[in-house]
Amino acid sequence: MIDPVSLFLLLVGPAIGSFLGVLLDRLPRGENVVRRRSFCRTCKTNLRVRDLIPLVSFALNKGHCRHCGTSIPPWAFYLEIGALGAAIFAVIAAATPVEAVFSAVFLWLLLGLAFADALWMRLPDPLTATLLCWVLGWAYVSPVQELSLAVMGAALGACSFLLLRIAYRMLRGREGLGLGDVKLMAGLGAFAGPFDLPLLVLAASLSGLLWALVCLRSKPGLSTKAIPFGTMLCFAAGLLWLARASALLI
Ligand SMILES: [Zn+2]
Repeated sequence: MIDPVSLFLLLVGPAIGSFLGVLLDRLPRGENVVRRRSFCRTCKTNLRVRDLIPLVSFALNKGHCRHCGTSIPPWAFYLEIGALGAAIFAVIAAATPVEAVFSAVFLWLLLGLAFADALWMRLPDPLTATLLCWVLGWAYVSPVQELSLAVMGAALGACSFLLLRIAYRMLRGREGLGLGDVKLMAGLGAFAGPFDLPLLVLAASLSGLLWALVCLRSKPGLSTKAIPFGTMLCFAAGLLWLARASALLI
């Protein structure tokens, strides 16, 4: 029998994905996320409730605006599916409803940040700051997490990436690592802790290499395109979360 908290997380998952889609659409443009109603970017029509039902509206309208027929970018739909998937994973892996809430919000934040970097090469401050606060807050209240290790991991993650950023700029004379990655590493470092942090960065680097190889193979002209390393870091953090969750389940 599923507990009410888990049921709530599963029901609210696609709506969280939908909200992340609005955040990712508006934050990089500097638009207000809360006050402005949802609207079609082509015909400017305000969307109604039937246009905004997560998963259902996109499928019913076959990925097009109901008013002007313009196709809607599929990533908004992928976010809704991804957020539901994250909720399912969190509920299955958690031993208690509180743990399920922590894991679900953590995975939703990773999802939003991964998409933001892949789409815009940006890691919005509100998301990186929430991630850090959420992980530190969890380490403070959780009986199985050490707050001191989380703080150490956050400092180590952010400082090492800041040094890397400065060193790259001095050696190459241009920016190689964004400040957003440094802020992201504070939250991810807090989650990984100082001992698992090198593993997380290694997994992200290998994923980046794989990404570059796939890009080069499919479109040879993309060799100079920057790799969204924040996406790789979030992916690696998701893998670390999965590894820890599976170790607990076994
Ligand atoms: Zn439209």
